[in-house]
Amino acid sequence: MRRGIAILGSTGSIGTQAIEVCLRHPDIFSIELLTAKQNSKLLIEQALKVQPNAVVIADESKYQEVNDALSGEDIKVFTGIESVNSLVQGESIHIVLTAMVGFSGLEPTISAIKAGKAIALANKETLVAAGDLVISLAKESGSPIIPVDSEHSAIFQCLQGERSKAEKLILTASGGPFLKKSIKDLQNVTISDTLNHPNWKMGSKVTVDSATMMNKGLEMIEAKWLFNMKPEDIDIVIHPQSIIHSMVQFKDGSVTAQMSSPDMKLPIQYALSYPNRLELNTKRINFTEIGRFDFMEPDREKFPCISIAYDAILKGGNIPCAMNAANELAVEAFLRSDIQFTSIHKVTQEVVNGTMFVAKPKLSDIIDTDRTARIEAAEIINKLKAK
Ligand code: MG
Repeated sequence: MRRGIAILGSTGSIGTQAIEVCLRHPDIFSIELLTAKQNSKLLIEQALKVQPNAVVIADESKYQEVNDALSGEDIKVFTGIESVNSLVQGESIHIVLTAMVGFSGLEPTISAIKAGKAIALANKETLVAAGDLVISLAKESGSPIIPVDSEHSAIFQCLQGERSKAEKLILTASGGPFLKKSIKDLQNVTISDTLNHPNWKMGSKVTVDSATMMNKGLEMIEAKWLFNMKPEDIDIVIHPQSIIHSMVQFKDGSVTAQMSSPDMKLPIQYALSYPNRLELNTKRINFTEIGRFDFMEPDREKFPCISIAYDAILKGGNIPCAMNAANELAVEAFLRSDIQFTSIHKVTQEVVNGTMFVAKPKLSDIIDTDRTARIEAAEIINKLKAK
């Protein structure tokens, strides 16, 4: 039987690559559902090509356009984020790929987990904001969560067939575009400097997160939940070549690594085809051409977001959720030229400091914390803007 796939966030970087992966293996994958926030043009194009059962355009003002364009097709058209929550529970869907940006991924993911679907997790913010809740729901329903994030896919691959728990996880980081810049230089970096990532082509949110290294902080929290590890047993190491995607250390001192040329199609495909591997035309590694691998410790003074993330997960409860919300708003504000690059971490830290602690947040607490943190962040951003 073919695997029925729902792609949430199909018009983004991960979504478009996931469609390519599925179309290359039509005997294995059948795309059942595509959802997009507002890129109606690309969603229509994808739907005509892929012929899914249904599409969702979350932005209601774009519904008419999508519905008209697909009126001659056997494709149901829906709008509103609530429809995503019910459609992911459809019988023909086996795997839900969560590739939307930010906190918006949480509720559809929970809904898919409640229906026992396998989750191909590309939305790290889901676990950052509500890791405890999501992991316990997945245990209850028996939903497997397979990581799509390249570092977590690497760790997941390193753990295949292992019976011992990992002693340490080593998350590799490219270091982003500002690895060699000084703290002073960072004051004046532009949006285009920030979006110019040396090794990976990704969406703008994660590319800015890579530049501040908040991405690695979010990934550390994601790894804690996915692999049931203590934050202090998760290390971050800069590896500028981006060939080793992460490593696992065991109690006998053995370290396993997963390597490949940086290409997101690999972790996307592995999450969808797991436990099988399928052919993929990635660029093969030529070790003698690469010549060397470098490793260094990240500079936490230059990239304070790393410490903000470790502090947040050590405090636990709803604090990582507040951190995530503030960071999302700060990144958006930076991309609108409302604040400087170096204000991103300041906004985030200030919101975290002002958050009312909830030790064991329920979903309603998580949603409240997210909303409050966004209001706080917007106020801080407005003050910075006025200066
Ligand atoms: Mg990653």
